[in-house]
Amino acid sequence: MASGGPGPPLGERLGPRSCSGERLGPRSCSGDRLAPRSCSGDRDRDRDRDRERERAGTRSAPAPGRPLTLEREVGVWDTVLLEPLTEQAFIANLHQRYKHDQIYTYISQVLVSVNPYKKLPLYSSDVIRAYRSCSRFELPPHVYAVAEEAYRAVREHNSDQCVVISGESGAGKTEASKLIMQYVAAVSGRAKEVNAIKGQLLQSNPVLEAFGNAKTHRNDNSSRFGKYMDLEFDFKGDPIGGLITNSDLLEKSRVTAQQPCERNFHIFYQLLTGADIQLLKSLKLQRNVENYDILKQGRPLQYETLDDKRDFQVTRRAMDILGLTPDEQQAILRVIASVLKLGNVTFSPVNNIDGSEGCVVDNEYEVLGTSDLLLVSFETLRSALTRRLVTALASDCGSSVACSPVTLPSSAAIYTDLQDACELLHTDTASLQASLTSHTLDGRLDAVTVELSAAEACSARDVLARALYSRLFAWIVMRINETIKPKKHAKRKVLGVLDIYGFEVFERNGFEQFCINFCNEKLQQIFIQLVLREEQEEYVREGIEWTPVDYFNNAVICDLIEKTNQGILSMLDDECLKPGHGSDEGFLSRLNAACSNHPHFSVISDNSSPAHCFRLKHYAGDVTYDVTDFVKKNVDALSRDLSLVMYRCDLPLMKALFPEGNPKRVTLRRGTSASAQFKISLGALMKSLAAKQPHYVRCVKPNDTKVANEFDSDLVRHQVRYLNLLETVRVKRVGFAFRQSYESFLARYKMLSLHTWPSWCGLAAEGVTYLLRDLPISMAEYAFGRTKLFIRSPETVYELEEYRRD
Ligand code: ATP
Ligand code: MG
Repeated sequence: MASGGPGPPLGERLGPRSCSGERLGPRSCSGDRLAPRSCSGDRDRDRDRDRERERAGTRSAPAPGRPLTLEREVGVWDTVLLEPLTEQAFIANLHQRYKHDQIYTYISQVLVSVNPYKKLPLYSSDVIRAYRSCSRFELPPHVYAVAEEAYRAVREHNSDQCVVISGESGAGKTEASKLIMQYVAAVSGRAKEVNAIKGQLLQSNPVLEAFGNAKTHRNDNSSRFGKYMDLEFDFKGDPIGGLITNSDLLEKSRVTAQQPCERNFHIFYQLLTGADIQLLKSLKLQRNVENYDILKQGRPLQYETLDDKRDFQVTRRAMDILGLTPDEQQAILRVIASVLKLGNVTFSPVNNIDGSEGCVVDNEYEVLGTSDLLLVSFETLRSALTRRLVTALASDCGSSVACSPVTLPSSAAIYTDLQDACELLHTDTASLQASLTSHTLDGRLDAVTVELSAAEACSARDVLARALYSRLFAWIVMRINETIKPKKHAKRKVLGVLDIYGFEVFERNGFEQFCINFCNEKLQQIFIQLVLREEQEEYVREGIEWTPVDYFNNAVICDLIEKTNQGILSMLDDECLKPGHGSDEGFLSRLNAACSNHPHFSVISDNSSPAHCFRLKHYAGDVTYDVTDFVKKNVDALSRDLSLVMYRCDLPLMKALFPEGNPKRVTLRRGTSASAQFKISLGALMKSLAAKQPHYVRCVKPNDTKVANEFDSDLVRHQVRYLNLLETVRVKRVGFAFRQSYESFLARYKMLSLHTWPSWCGLAAEGVTYLLRDLPISMAEYAFGRTKLFIRSPETVYELEEYRRD
């Protein structure tokens, strides 16, 4: 169809102008103009002042209370208007703005955010007030503008929205997601009940961060789980609750192992540093972090940027607000303490009677030696000691030395970490000890007990610690969901916020990085589908003239990883199905054999990398993965014995964490592997996102050293490339910033023409033609599609809104 409608003449009443003949500037939500642009003299003076400040290097983001105007912006705030459009110019523009603390820039509707690594005066209540009810074209780019637009669409158009925040680790996704939540909380209803709900929604953040975030190389507060949160609203736009989906995406391997300069999850350090002495005592803990094996692998353990003591109080307060009872909180902390204790349990090999290798818990050595001396069986002695029934032992001893306190190890000697863990979980030591050092094979007729080697017992201990922690995390999410679940059954609309861990590449990349990076591939895929592909397809569908823009479509990598029966995940599952769960080497040979010709897969055959690696060419760069422990981590199966022991613990929480341990529940089904579960969760997440109207925040990391005022252009270039930012500008630039069905357009703007006001009876497209003809908008600014009107630049939409308000 032809572009543009018939020409102008202007209805005199429209478009207020300044004394210099220009259209007036944006308005604040109260209707006051934010930047009084009524006289060009004033404006020039303003600019001169800004230039002077700029020269003096003192120009900064608007201070609280200072009016926000687009005029104060440096560089180009919407890169769709950037001339000439080159990669270098794009990066230079980001850099220039960054230097002036203008960290936000638009690519039409997509917000690019560069991490400032310092507190900026951009988030005061004055700023919130300014963005409230203003359209995104009226004020400088801001994450609040994205929040406002999404929230307004929920409130006014009653349609589900989501904000997808992406970028690499440390780029500022979690901060952006919190700002969005804070904004929505600030601008929505203030009734007592609504305020209580908002408080709870906001307080879910500190709790989830305490249990789900950790210090990594790239970020001192790195999210180690994928979080998708739906904020739910009633018809008035007031929050009535929410739902958090954690999608089994917690990086649970961190519980038992961390790389150098990384830490375990924050809550462990918070508890040890922030708990008072009574609490520590009740949890059988000592304050010193060094006492716990699972906390001291990374080193150093304390960082200036993390205040564990203060954060513990914040976490506790948030749990209170979320309605977690003192008993529930105590149970949570008991599980955390038990994981710490369990991590300290070590095993030593012993020879079984049949010559095979068995093992004992290390602290039992003393008991073992003593049992020989006393001619009493090891089991009897151990059981007597753990139950502190030393006196009852004398009759069982075959030795005349009997049970004098000198020859017997004190009960404190066996009063070990293992026993502490058992007391914390309210279970008996003997059962847990037995199920860590042996396991039962259920034959058809008889159950056979197999002794585990020391290495196998260590592995069982780690699986248990990870299961305890990750199930506790899932339970906490479930418990928060219970609190924030909407109480009203009214029809509701949703604003979802997705903040998932960012793409990461380390020196050594394992199963965790593989899952995290796959997740980011999927997010990139949804961005490509909705922003780059569908946008272009829509122009074709609507019959709009269009020169296609090329972009890299990462569907080919997603397929390589997830394709049913042929993808890397399927091959991993196949290997794990082999008797004895297969091996990492077996998995790697499968991969190398099947994928060697794939353009995004490299077999590692040179000397530059270890032989147990493969390399993937991700959308964000090449990553070499070390397959060591892929199989183990994928299976990560807890033995039936351990499930039973955990279920039988007298701590009620444990029944909820280990339901499969219920002896009445007979299940022969194999547990789902970690990667299969991950794939299912991701699929559900993508489906949920695709059902909503998306908004995008693309976060960029300005440097690798986490410092303010440093802009590493090479690092930024890399991100600009893989985030497809330039392609996005191209698509948005030759495309249209705004589109709306003729019916909706007419309904919103019919008051702007006498032809369409108060109502239009003919075809909607015809009405829109008349309407536009009556407005001073250039024909080049719009195009008529088959069902929708397309408007090229954001300013035109802003002008329309301006006319509508006047
Ligand atoms: P990950 O994928 O590792 O979770 P992330 O993208 O969520 O990373 P954030 O935790 O949001 O990264 O940000 C890392 C750090 O950068 C924050 O702890 C904060 O110090 C700083 N930061 C991010 N955004 C901002 C901001 N808008 N203002 C000030 N500081 C910020
Ligand atoms: Mg994060």
